[in-house]
Amino acid sequence: MSVAATTSPAVGTLYVSRFPTSRGMPRVTMALRSNVVSVGSILTKLQKDCATPFPVIRHVADSMTADMRAGLAVDGGSNLKMILSYVDSLPSGNEKGLFYALDLGGTNFRALRVQLGGKEDRVVATEFEQLSIPQELMFGTSEELFDFIASTLAGFAEKESEKFHLPHGRQREIGFTFSFPVKQTSIDSGILMKWTKGFAVSGTAGRDVVACLNEAMERQGVDMRVSALVNDTVGTLAGARYWDDDVLVAVILGTGTNACYVERTDCIPKLQGPKSSSGRTIINTEWGAFSDGIPLTVFDRDMDAASINPGEQIFEKTISGMYLGEIARRALVTMAEEGSLFGMAVPNKLSTPFALRTPDICAMQQDNSDDLQAVGSILHDVAGVESSLSERRIVLEVCDAIVRRGGRLAGAGIVGILQKMEQDSKGTIFNKRTVVAMDGGLYEHYPQYRSYLQDAVTELLGSETSKNIVIEHSKDGSGIGAALLAATNSKYDHDF
Ligand code: ADP
Ligand code: MG
Repeated sequence: MSVAATTSPAVGTLYVSRFPTSRGMPRVTMALRSNVVSVGSILTKLQKDCATPFPVIRHVADSMTADMRAGLAVDGGSNLKMILSYVDSLPSGNEKGLFYALDLGGTNFRALRVQLGGKEDRVVATEFEQLSIPQELMFGTSEELFDFIASTLAGFAEKESEKFHLPHGRQREIGFTFSFPVKQTSIDSGILMKWTKGFAVSGTAGRDVVACLNEAMERQGVDMRVSALVNDTVGTLAGARYWDDDVLVAVILGTGTNACYVERTDCIPKLQGPKSSSGRTIINTEWGAFSDGIPLTVFDRDMDAASINPGEQIFEKTISGMYLGEIARRALVTMAEEGSLFGMAVPNKLSTPFALRTPDICAMQQDNSDDLQAVGSILHDVAGVESSLSERRIVLEVCDAIVRRGGRLAGAGIVGILQKMEQDSKGTIFNKRTVVAMDGGLYEHYPQYRSYLQDAVTELLGSETSKNIVIEHSKDGSGIGAALLAATNSKYDHDF
């Protein structure tokens, strides 16, 4: 209802301010009227199609729980792969020594080193380097991509300062964070199942990514060893757990999205062979592939059809940073085409796929000024449009509808994981402090998204229970987490 109330005045203003002389030209007026009406009706339909009222988020949470169980029962039992991470013990705080971490995300590549000082001194020193992944490498060959990683690592290792110490005769060890779906075969090996997040590198799918990196390091003359292959969610969980024992779940909301959690080994029917001594292991859900009950708009369907993985990663495509701006852009283009939003011609720049990025819509949503000046200038810069105030308001409504859905669905997914854990171990999740460690550029930088996410969690769990669930940002946890897991799995004796 509030949708109609906020939309109508904006549309009215659009009509009046744009065409002040239309009163004397009935035929044109009619055409313009129908255009004007259609912007409003496209917006209303968008808001309706991506609405996430309580029954929708309840269904998504329950369905997430059911899909998790199905994926734990047998391989291929569900959209959710529920991958075994081979991480059975989390950092204790006693880890010591120099360790490296590499993080290949969807947008950035990071190299990091950390000197760990044990329980007392914790993180003694860290240094890191971050680069954007060159576009052409996302579509090149496996060798090109891994050579880029190895040579960046070589350059970074050369700059190691005297704050870092490696005992004589030891190889530097690396925790390799690789944020794509990998079928882990041990803690230090795993096969890439498929690329996601727009990557289409040839020759990696079906191969062990640690072997790919080792071969590249050999080609580049880098004498280092990967001792842990870590999904970024698992790295985030390990990194956050280092500081806080109540962390049981980690979620990434960046270019893409994923989640992992601590599972009881006796709750994993598909787990064959020896079970971990801790009785626990981390499961990488690969929840980006979830799809049941997600409200989709025509813009989502069109974007999916044009993507390199149509029909796949539907949850990821509705909630993660790579896509939110693009969904909004598609809605605005339709409004421009069918409703003459931004004038009679559709702005060229706006027609370019991915021209409007999630950081752009985020920046627009931070504009609290009366004339929405920042919205106007972003629209001008990224879309090449001159906009009226009422048009800017419509743009904000479009962004808000998409971001609200994204945040609320992410919140529902988190509740899905928590309630699965609670069902299996009554009283261990909802009746005590439980921390969900969050990381990724989208979660970090988008306040509205964060609050929509929290709203959905509170709605689903109720205000009392949700007080026990702490959803908090764990900045750069995944880098340190990967280094910690490299330490835990070091080939050298450790004195902890
Ligand atoms: P990756 O996913 O590559 O590991 P990040 O976690 O840093 O990298 O996430 C980068 C993504 O976060 C970007 O693709 C973008 O969608 C989103 N993002 C970055 N900055 C912002 C911002 N200011 N507002 C909203 N989203 C942002
Ligand atoms: Mg990342």
